[in-house]
Amino acid sequence: MIELPKLPYKRDALEPHISQKTIDFHYGQHHAGYVKNLNNLIEGSTFEKMSLEEIIKNSEGSIFNNAAQVWNHTFYWNCMTADKNCMPQDYLLKRIERDFGSYENFKQLFIKQAATLFGSGWQWLVCDNEGKLSLLQTSNAGTPLTQENIHPLLCCDVWEHAYYLDQQNLRLAYLNEFWQIINWKFVEKKLI
Ligand code: MN
Repeated sequence: MIELPKLPYKRDALEPHISQKTIDFHYGQHHAGYVKNLNNLIEGSTFEKMSLEEIIKNSEGSIFNNAAQVWNHTFYWNCMTADKNCMPQDYLLKRIERDFGSYENFKQLFIKQAATLFGSGWQWLVCDNEGKLSLLQTSNAGTPLTQENIHPLLCCDVWEHAYYLDQQNLRLAYLNEFWQIINWKFVEKKLI
């Protein structure tokens, strides 16, 4: 049985950047829905005794899609915070500057990739085993967990359900709000 993890903050904590209404639907309906679907799909199968990560690495089709969406959403909630820590600090900032030239360049590239990802998917900042940072896009339920030598540090959900209630179809407006509430401390903890 896969559980829906608790949100790391209250449902209204990200306002005005992300509304409680969006969290109610996105977490309470979409994320919870993937958990429910997954549990229905794995009931009575060999996947039932596996961890979420094991299911993702060993499945395909509907089971993979729902499992990866559960994992991606949990990661996404952790990438945001109500605390005001709007810039990466010290070590993380140095790594960003080393691999993207500057913080501003990194921000522009991340937002540009996220804004232009076609259809539904996820925008990621990842690092490899040597600690080199890079950007990655995954379509639909795609997740870096299935890729060798890739470690996720930050993700942004660019499925329309992430922003439609607040910004309708204006993904770029959502990305600019998202950027203001990134939990850089969480990103730094994930660094290799
Ligand atoms: Mn989503």
